[in-house]
Amino acid sequence: MTYCDVIVLAAGRGSRAGVDKMLHRLLWDTVIERAVQAFASLDFVKKIIVAASADNIAEIENIFVDFRQKPVKVILGGATRHLSVKAALDKVQSPIVLVHDGARPFVSPPLIESVYKETLAKGSAVPVLAVADSIRKIEQDKIVGIVDRNNYVLVQTPQGYNANELKKAFSLADRIDYSDEAELYLQKIASPQIVEGSADNYKLTSPFDLVASGQKVGVGWDLHKLIKDKPLTICGVKVPYDWGLDAHSDGDVAVHAIIDALLSATGLADIGWHFPDTNPSLKDVSSMLLLAEIAQKLDTLGNSINNLVVLIIADKPKLNSFAEKMKDELSAVLGIKKEQIALHFKTSEGVYPPLTMQCWALCSLS
Ligand code: MG
Repeated sequence: MTYCDVIVLAAGRGSRAGVDKMLHRLLWDTVIERAVQAFASLDFVKKIIVAASADNIAEIENIFVDFRQKPVKVILGGATRHLSVKAALDKVQSPIVLVHDGARPFVSPPLIESVYKETLAKGSAVPVLAVADSIRKIEQDKIVGIVDRNNYVLVQTPQGYNANELKKAFSLADRIDYSDEAELYLQKIASPQIVEGSADNYKLTSPFDLVASGQKVGVGWDLHKLIKDKPLTICGVKVPYDWGLDAHSDGDVAVHAIIDALLSATGLADIGWHFPDTNPSLKDVSSMLLLAEIAQKLDTLGNSINNLVVLIIADKPKLNSFAEKMKDELSAVLGIKKEQIALHFKTSEGVYPPLTMQCWALCSLS
């Protein structure tokens, strides 16, 4: 079999997305893990070289320390794409090399295979997409010409090359700011061959791409009995009432449901596992302190809350007038805006057993 080595570029500054895209979590895996995993499952891939930046190299090395599917070598990239590929090419030993943007984590094995096969047959392969929108030539703020979009394509990665020819192109380079390998190859070697790309293989660019591509939802539910002469605390707010919620903690039924929603979205065990009611130090504890601990845990895992929906079902007391104060408390502890929280109150119209209060919570994380 003719093997190929893969270069995955992860040294970009990510300035358009405002964060380091490579370390952003898509469901369970980071962007860079997803990109690498797509290649690791293919038998013709010999090894994967990840070009990282000085800022993310330690974390990326850590991500791949236990990676067993294929050898992954993390190297320090350069100040430009060209310099990163150049540094990585020094480590390439297979006759074929594929160069891929780490910010395209949804690349599919069939697309990679198509690039590999075309490179094997023709010496190069660049995946391209037809242009769907119209193209116009502009000058300053006016359209000054019509361009036939059928003469143009959008270029993706992975790009495949005969490794020796790409190394030769790099040795002949007279700049360090080629936009991609296809530009350099075209100028120094030959016209690269094209294959059909895929719309799924898009590049994560804006903060919206990051949010849209990695959403997780969670749900939580809780119920407590109301008992005489206990303070009633809901969403961290003391509600004047003769009855309070029976529990080992302060019984904040809404906060318990919210904690379970957050934990379920991240795939972690539920509230009872984290805060067992057999723990004497949690006797009468403020549930908001527990929520703060879970919020901290989410933060450490790299998750952020998109929105939170809380639905409290109780026939008594009336809670609507406390809604704003409750949102204030929740937004402060969770570090989100009040606009990201919806708080609804329902009665059971006397159908549910009296003297109970229950709460549903739903959340979306990215
Ligand atoms: Mg509870």
